[in-house]
Amino acid sequence: MRGFTTSIVHSDRLEPVEHGSLHKPIHATVAYGYEDVQDLADVFQGRSGGYSYGRQVNPTISALETKINRMERGVATVCFGTGMAAIGTLLFALLRQGDHFVSSSFLFGNTNSLFLSFAAHGVDVTFVDATSTDAVASAVKPNTKLVFVETIANPRTQVTDLAGIGALCRDRGLVYVVDNTMTSPYLFQPVDVEASLIVNSLTKYIGGHGNALGGAVTETGKFDWTSFDNIYDTYRKGDSAKWALTQVRKKGLRDFGPTLGPEAAHHLGIGAETLALRMERQCKNARALTAFLAAHDRVSRVYYPGLPDHPQHARTKGLFRHPGALFGFELADDVEPFGFLNRLEVVIKSSNLGDNRTLAIPVAHTIYYEMGPERRASMGIADSLIRISTGIEDEEDLIADFAQALAA
Ligand SMILES: *Cc1c(COP(=O)(O)O)cnc(C)c1O
Repeated sequence: MRGFTTSIVHSDRLEPVEHGSLHKPIHATVAYGYEDVQDLADVFQGRSGGYSYGRQVNPTISALETKINRMERGVATVCFGTGMAAIGTLLFALLRQGDHFVSSSFLFGNTNSLFLSFAAHGVDVTFVDATSTDAVASAVKPNTKLVFVETIANPRTQVTDLAGIGALCRDRGLVYVVDNTMTSPYLFQPVDVEASLIVNSLTKYIGGHGNALGGAVTETGKFDWTSFDNIYDTYRKGDSAKWALTQVRKKGLRDFGPTLGPEAAHHLGIGAETLALRMERQCKNARALTAFLAAHDRVSRVYYPGLPDHPQHARTKGLFRHPGALFGFELADDVEPFGFLNRLEVVIKSSNLGDNRTLAIPVAHTIYYEMGPERRASMGIADSLIRISTGIEDEEDLIADFAQALAA
C-alpha cells in the first residue's frame, strides 16, 4: 500500500477512464441502459455489479466512495448528500423501535437534535461524557445496540476515550460508530480503535473548500453482523463484513433517497486529493494561534488538545497525528466578543469549519442557540465562547489579525 496522498491522488485510475482522462468524468445521469435485458435483470437481482438507478449508484459517486474507503482502510463505503444524511440514514437503517443507543453528550449540534428526534420515535438514547469509558459502560442496558461518539468535540475540544470505548464495544458486542469529521482520516483512522462504522462529513476537511456538501459511512469489517438481529434476511448473504452497509445502502439510501449529486461528488473528490497538505498547514496554524492566544492577557481561556494544560492532551498525542485545526477560546471580561469579531479583517465570521479560509463564530448565539442554556452548560459552552476553524492562510497574517483585533 502506497502512502496516504499517493494512494488517493491515483485512485481514479484504478479503473480505466475514457481517453486516459486523469479525472473521473461527472456522470450526469439518472439511469443506465443495457443492450441485453438479461444484463439489466442481473443488476437488479444482484448477480452483477452494474448500475441500476441514480438514487443508489452513480460512477462519479462510486469513484469518491473508493477514495474515502481507501482513506479509512475500510471494506466498503456509501456516500450521502450531507454528513447529517449519513448519520440519520445509518441509524434509520440499523436501529428499530425499542432499541437503545449510547451517545457522547459532546456532539455536533444538529446530531444532538437528530438523536432527540430518534428518541421521540421510540429509539431511546442516553447521553454520557464519552471522555470516560466507565461513563459509557454504566449507560449500557440489555437493549443497547450501538455506541456513537465523535473524535474531538466541537467547540470545546473534549477528546473521546476512543480506544477504551472500542475495547468495551468489542467485549460487549456493541456496534461502535465513530464520527471522524473533526480529525479526518489523515489525522486518525478509527479502524485502529475497533470502530465498526465510520462517519465523515465530506463537507468539512475532506472536501476542504466549502463548495460542496457530502457525507459518508465506511464499514471497517470489525463487527460480526451475524450476531446483529436487525439485519433483514434479504441482506444476510455473501460476505458478512458488508451486511450492515448493504442494508444502509438499500433500506437507507435507496428507500429514503438522501443521495449525493454527481457534481458535488466531483468537487469533493478533487478536494480529497489535497487533504493531507491542507491538514498539515491548518493544524500548524491552529498550534500557532492557540500558543499566541494562550499567552495573551485579553484572553481568559483557550481550548485546544494541542495545549499542555488540555485535560486530554496526553490521549491526543497517543491517538492523532496532529491535535486538529479547530479551537475555542473565551475573551477577558472587558473585551466585548461581537466587537472583537467585527474587528477581524482576514478571519471570516461564518458557521462552517474545515474550509481553506479561517472562520470564526460565537457559538452560543448561533449554532448552539436552539438547544438552550441548560444543554449548553452541560456541554461546557459559555456565552462568550468563540470557535475558530483555521484555514491555510499564512501564519503571520492570522496572528497579526488577532493581535490588532485584541489590541483595539
Ligand atoms: C458538520 C458536521 C456534521 C454534519 O455534516 P454536514 O455535511 O454539514 O451535514 C456531522 N458531524 C460533525 C462532527 C460535523 O462537524
